[in-house]
Amino acid sequence: MIPGARIVVLGRQGAGKGTQCVRLARHYVVPHISTGDILRAAVKSDTPLGQKAKEYMDRGDLLPDEVMVGIIEERLAQDDTRRRGFVLDGFPRTVAQATALLEVLADDGIDLAVDLHVPIEAALERLAGRRVCRDCGTNYSLEVRPIRDWTCDNCGGDVIQRADDTESAIRRRLELYEEQTSPLMSWFAERDLLAVVAGQGAPDDVTARLIEVIDSRVGLA
Ligand code: AMP
Repeated sequence: MIPGARIVVLGRQGAGKGTQCVRLARHYVVPHISTGDILRAAVKSDTPLGQKAKEYMDRGDLLPDEVMVGIIEERLAQDDTRRRGFVLDGFPRTVAQATALLEVLADDGIDLAVDLHVPIEAALERLAGRRVCRDCGTNYSLEVRPIRDWTCDNCGGDVIQRADDTESAIRRRLELYEEQTSPLMSWFAERDLLAVVAGQGAPDDVTARLIEVIDSRVGLA
């Protein structure tokens, strides 16, 4: 049996987090928990959470910590994560969320938080080119296109630019990342829970780098 893993992936927007988290979740056979995906699904189904989230997301603002902690607490209480672990993508984004996360996980904690690091210029370039399936959320880009013109290889849905990938929302999200999320690097480092992995280069190479670092942490290397 493949041992599970309990991983947090940090990194500024455009670092390739979404793509790498899907791969890591497959590799370790654990659920990929993306708070952005959870919120986008709520917006699409027009639930009360979705109606509230949309305003924040369109502006590129963060939702309140209490709302996000509630969502993640509920997800982490499910059987699959309790048994196998998780790859957390997009959470935590503030020190308050990180504190709440370790409280919720109590003794089980996390194995590692990985900072998938790319310089800001590279992140901006990737964000401008990124495309996503409207239905299943599979990531594409101007370089990595679906086989058939902007039709998702996975589910046949339309591949589009994300609603919050506008210039002003991108600027706002990157600003908030520097302000609110980058302090998390030292927060995790102080607890001996941080590894930094270079996010540039071919996606396969980045995945291999991530797996090497995580395996050495969870005792698989
Ligand atoms: P993402 O797909 O991770 O870039 O998330 C898209 C948007 O969802 C963000 O710009 C925020 O508006 C919201 N969001 C996702 N995760 C969080 C979080 N942990 N805390 C606050 N807002 C979040």
